[in-house]
Amino acid sequence: AKNQGRNSYRFFTKALQDALEARAALLGDLRNALPDNQFALCYQPIVDLLSGDVHKAEALLRWQHPRRGLISPAEFIPLAEETGLIREIGDWVFESAAKQVQTWRSNIHPEFQISVNKSPVQFQSLEHAPEDWFAYLNRLGLSGQSIVVEITEGLLLDANLVVHNHLMAFRDAGMQVAIDDFGTGYSALSYLKKFDIDYLKIDQSFVRNLSEDSNDFVLCEAIIVMAHKLGLKVIAEGVETAQQRDLLTSIGCDYGQGYLFAKPLPAELFDQQFGKSS
Ligand code: C2E
Ligand code: CA
Ligand code: CA
Ligand code: CA
Repeated sequence: AKNQGRNSYRFFTKALQDALEARAALLGDLRNALPDNQFALCYQPIVDLLSGDVHKAEALLRWQHPRRGLISPAEFIPLAEETGLIREIGDWVFESAAKQVQTWRSNIHPEFQISVNKSPVQFQSLEHAPEDWFAYLNRLGLSGQSIVVEITEGLLLDANLVVHNHLMAFRDAGMQVAIDDFGTGYSALSYLKKFDIDYLKIDQSFVRNLSEDSNDFVLCEAIIVMAHKLGLKVIAEGVETAQQRDLLTSIGCDYGQGYLFAKPLPAELFDQQFGKSS
């Protein structure tokens, strides 16, 4: 038994060591990803449920790793956040999305909007300030309205002065703000009053099992009624079936996003499917 204990101890140390080494290697690779041009953005349409129009898209980050192939943001974003690399990466995401929205404003719709995900870590420093983003939009001749910033509830719950100023600066520049994954956080709804928010994105966990007699249906309906009374638009995430789309439309949901309409697509494919010429 003594021997066995020692073996499993060795096993765990080895496993832990391997995990730490893998993490260190990934981190090293992540530092090179931006300079080596390994990032790309995919765009997923956000569909107006009443008209079917596609005048919005969410930018989603992809990392093409030289040896491992495509790595999911769920794996590398947390690492980028811990190390602060997310700030530079986030600026790159923003600038790429801005260039793209400039194109789509001219060849899809003049009010086209692209939303970008902004991690709480990107709100923690005075560098990478919102002013730099506006200056960039200005240089491209774009209004603030061309970009929507997606944040999570957690950011607003423990919002300090820096976060507050960031959000105020967005407002002043006309940029819109969406609450991502709505309903999965602590949902202290008071922040909806305190901050000027434009969109709620209902998390896909509420949409997944949607049927007429489900609790999720009641919750979605309540969220939509509340949001509309507060003057916000609602986007449902993870719409995969026509039934989900129809139920969401029947309770007044404004927009849908999900595999039913399209997976996140490289810009060229998005253009082919949703551009004017299509
Ligand atoms: P998110 O912001 O909630 O993005 C939605 C995720 O749901 C995306 O995963 C998207 O591909 C996926 N999705 C879309 N439609 C469907 C559907 O019908 N069914 C299902 N099952 N999934 C669907 P993805 O692209 O893997 O991104 C995962 C998360 O990584 C994002 O969740 C976001 O939190 C983060 N992320 C992605 N890009 C960025 C970025 O540029 N910056 C930051 N800070 N985070 C990012
Ligand atoms: Ca998002
Ligand atoms: Ca989400
Ligand atoms: Ca508003």
